[in-house]
Amino acid sequence: MNVLVINCGSSSLKYQLINSESEEVLAKGLCERIGIDGRLTYQKAGLDKEVTDAPMPTHKEAIKMVLDALTNDKTGAIGSLSEVGAVGHRMVHGGEKFTSSAVINDEMIKAVESCNPLAPLHNPANLIGVNACKELMPDVPMVGVFDTAFHQTMPKEAYLYGLPYEYYEKYGVRRYGFHGTSHSFVSKETAKFLGMDLENSKIIVAHLGNGASISAVKNGKCVDTSMGLTPLAGLVMGTRCGDIDPAILEYIAQKENLDLAGVMNVLNKKSGVQGISGVSSDFRDLENGMNEGNERCADALNVFSYNVAKFIGAYVAAMNGVDAIAFTAGIGENAPLVREKVLGYLGYLGVVLDAEANKKRGENNVISTPDSKVKVVVVPTNEELAICRDTVALVK
Ligand code: ADP
Repeated sequence: MNVLVINCGSSSLKYQLINSESEEVLAKGLCERIGIDGRLTYQKAGLDKEVTDAPMPTHKEAIKMVLDALTNDKTGAIGSLSEVGAVGHRMVHGGEKFTSSAVINDEMIKAVESCNPLAPLHNPANLIGVNACKELMPDVPMVGVFDTAFHQTMPKEAYLYGLPYEYYEKYGVRRYGFHGTSHSFVSKETAKFLGMDLENSKIIVAHLGNGASISAVKNGKCVDTSMGLTPLAGLVMGTRCGDIDPAILEYIAQKENLDLAGVMNVLNKKSGVQGISGVSSDFRDLENGMNEGNERCADALNVFSYNVAKFIGAYVAAMNGVDAIAFTAGIGENAPLVREKVLGYLGYLGVVLDAEANKKRGENNVISTPDSKVKVVVVPTNEELAICRDTVALVK
């Protein structure tokens, strides 16, 4: 079956058409500047990217252009839309309502809408994509795959905050966690790759991208994760602050004469390694900066790596041990220096880094030595493939 995977944001939309049997990507691309002017990028497997500027007043026109590109007689990946067997939508917040992926129907959409207050920017955008596909392909089954679902197995002690309990009951204030599709995919891939029994394993997944989170996965189930009610919590990230003393909000508001929205803007967009370095949120720039003697770039890299190591230590405690640590996403997959710095803190666990193996890129890779007590791996994440697999499992 061919599955169209859609990740719909407020003004952009990423897509992949995947053959679920071969798990090959037949075509992929993105629509940008929806509602502004509009640009479609389309790439059929094996061919160059095509970029077309065309008006996309709404997501419906954007998806129509994607469908036209996919079925176009010159560079289309399929002959007609009847070859799309299902659509898998990435959904950000499923609250406590969704503990796994779900077939999209009217009742399901209502349940997602009830979670909108928890992700006011993301969920409505995801649903716009769902509605546009429903209009254009009314007979094709669709599935929603939630960023939060994998983390719903966390025990209460991991998800409750030290706040008045009524905020949890009335407003749903608790830890939800994000990147769940990636944490689920990478923990399963790690067990498979290392020949471990997932049902009897303790794995820590470090998803280190522009947004970064860590999770503790015991016997295949998430028991703790670093992001919280929102994706602002946990690790120091590209531009997000991660965990800070909450009293800083009031202090900075007074000092900088900012309102709450102004402070939140700083915490989301001007903090993290960007804020520390004053140079960039991109780890390639930070490494270059450090190599040229920029001390704040070195500080940013060190703070980030120390943060990751501290969370790993916490999750070893949460699971009373660890068998494997997996690095994934942009930084986790591509930054040997960060992995080396993180693992430098974990000697007490019996982690021994294989410096040669740590230099490799691009595929599943063990970077610990054979005598290392804990296996350390790099496992590229593939959220689109995970969405495709869940979609097929639910529509078959
Ligand atoms: P997201 O999906 O959260 O936007 P990604 O997982 O794509 O993020 O990660 C993007 C980040 O990965 C970049 O901002 C950069 O910091 C980092 N990155 C990508 N390639 C490299 C590299 N070769 N070396 C170091 N860092 C890299």
